Amino acid sequence: MLTSDVVICGGGVIGCSIAYDLAKRGASAIVVESRHPGEEASGAAAGMLNPQAESEEPSSFFRLLVESRELFPSLAAELEDATGIELSYRKTGCLRLAWGAAEFGRWGRVALWQRQGGFPVETLDAGELRRRAPGQLSTDLYGGYFFRDDAQIHPARFTQALWRAAEARGVRFLLGTRARALRLSGSRAMGLETDAGPIEAPATVNAAGAWADTLAPTVLTVPVRPARGQIVELSDVSLPSVSVSSDVYLVPHSEQRVWIGSTTEFVGFERRQTAGAVRTLVQEAIRLMPTLENATFRGAWSGFRPATPDALPILGETPVPGLFLATGHFRNGILLAPITSRVIAELVAEGTTRKDLSAFRWGRF
Ligand SMILES: Cc1cc2nc3c(=O)[nH]c(=O)nc-3n(C[C@H](O)[C@H](O)[C@H](O)COP(=O)(O)OP(=O)(O)OC[C@H]3O[C@@H](n4cnc5c(N)ncnc54)[C@H](O)[C@@H]3O)c2cc1C
Repeated sequence: MLTSDVVICGGGVIGCSIAYDLAKRGASAIVVESRHPGEEASGAAAGMLNPQAESEEPSSFFRLLVESRELFPSLAAELEDATGIELSYRKTGCLRLAWGAAEFGRWGRVALWQRQGGFPVETLDAGELRRRAPGQLSTDLYGGYFFRDDAQIHPARFTQALWRAAEARGVRFLLGTRARALRLSGSRAMGLETDAGPIEAPATVNAAGAWADTLAPTVLTVPVRPARGQIVELSDVSLPSVSVSSDVYLVPHSEQRVWIGSTTEFVGFERRQTAGAVRTLVQEAIRLMPTLENATFRGAWSGFRPATPDALPILGETPVPGLFLATGHFRNGILLAPITSRVIAELVAEGTTRKDLSAFRWGRF
């Protein structure tokens, strides 16, 4: 039978990041992944690291997002050094655009509390917007805000680099292997039953994303369900930064490509991309940036965000000793991977974390 200090179910960005952090602490770890690392939500994401441009209220969640964003510069450099994979981490900021006075005012109040908290936000009227992106943005826009500290990364390559760096430090990845159930010894979790046989470990981490509930023992349900998101890719366009409106976001990637997202659909695990979603995304993107009319349509894809009832992640220990949860990251799993793996690795390796996880505990539902 395979044994290790920790067994992790799920090789998405969350499972790979936890494996990498645990390996750096000297723990032995096995990751069980039914497909390939990054083939699900983590490879379908847009790659925005936007805690400021997406948070309307100050909260412990906002602090968690910001804390995680701050871990990216050194982590990205460390992973690029370790793996040679180019992550396209860029702190190019995020432009939030408003169509009317009410929306502009609402985000003005956001800018106020963020500036008071020490987070830079630039206010831009319609004229300043036009100067920032000459000839690109709709002349109907009322104004916007620029969050210069927000950033972006290539999500699939980030996940792949975490996987490769963890592997280089001794983590074993069982790919194409499905975890079927938790192994229980009395009321304690002791590893996983998998298609490749049992794995015994004193600590088990459920990082199975939108599938997290399928691993739960009967004593513990994990309230996570899939929220399909679709993305359209255009090329032959260059944008200086991520741009976000209430309807759509535009994320520039290398080779003059732009990813346009996204939908949030509760349709179960239905993988297709729909004509209606593609039409709406393209239409809203062109409304925001009329020059996109001439861009090249390259394709579309979708992924399943792990959504909880309150849209917050579930992090930490559970009433089942030895079982830890790291799931429910919904729209922010790429951004939250570094802080998630830090707290989970602390809990698993040291039995405690300095981070207050009460807002994210399993028992809140
Ligand atoms: C369209 C879209 C855009 C997004 N944009 C952003 C963004 O810009 N910024 C951001 O921060 N986040 C974004 N997200 C959210 C982010 O992608 C997710 O929150 C994150 O990828 C979740 O990571 P995960 O590792 O929990 O899940 P996943 O990446 O889905 O990984 C879970 C893994 O577990 C495996 N698995 C499941 N069950 C089993 C089992 N029984 N046995 C073995 N393996 C199993 C699956 O095969 C899968 O690989 C976006 C998501 C989508 C869909």
